[in-house]
Amino acid sequence: MQKLVLASNNAKKMKELNALLAPLGFEVIPQGQLGIPEAEEPHCTFVENALAKARHAAQHSGLPALADDSGLCVKALGGAPGVISARYAGEPKSDARNNEKLLADLASQSDRRAHFVSCLVLCRSADDPQPIIAEGEWHGEIVDQYRGDGGFGYDPLFFVPEFGQTAAELDAETKNRVSHRGRAMQKLIERLPEL
Ligand code: IMP
Repeated sequence: MQKLVLASNNAKKMKELNALLAPLGFEVIPQGQLGIPEAEEPHCTFVENALAKARHAAQHSGLPALADDSGLCVKALGGAPGVISARYAGEPKSDARNNEKLLADLASQSDRRAHFVSCLVLCRSADDPQPIIAEGEWHGEIVDQYRGDGGFGYDPLFFVPEFGQTAAELDAETKNRVSHRGRAMQKLIERLPEL
């Protein structure tokens, strides 16, 4: 089994990544289990933040590390909340307050188009000169009513026309197959032999 540190403390995000990696023979270790603190995410792009998180976890653990930096980009809001999706409504992080703010900000908007982005970065070591980078997108619309209790974050407001359901109404296996994170992971998996 190849050990891989997951540079995240988001339990639900880790569950999704673990479901995709465990069948491939990876022993996935959450960074919290090794006492590694959360990295700073000061950058304005997903890829820079994912790189900072993966590098931080590899440095503290001495093991290869995988990070996901993800978020929701809403067309009518000029791409917001984007890289600050987790803290859109400020500190402390709260999915409920983020969703309320999103609905308030979109109250007068008829253009409801939005997409999720996931950028995955895998660093073999802290000073890996060529990390494996993979990105995925998932397009949908923001609805006014909360629907479903699966997933996390903005899932209850993210409607996926292809399924006629919100992301929170999809079963976990379907979400993992079609989501931004699932798509990024499929690209990453193709490149795992480079590890
Ligand atoms: P990160 O942990 O800094 O990458 O922040 C990711 C944030 O983006 C989460 O806290 C959610 O608010 C949002 N997000 C990312 N992926 C998803 C998803 O699959 N469903 C719902 N919200 C998501």
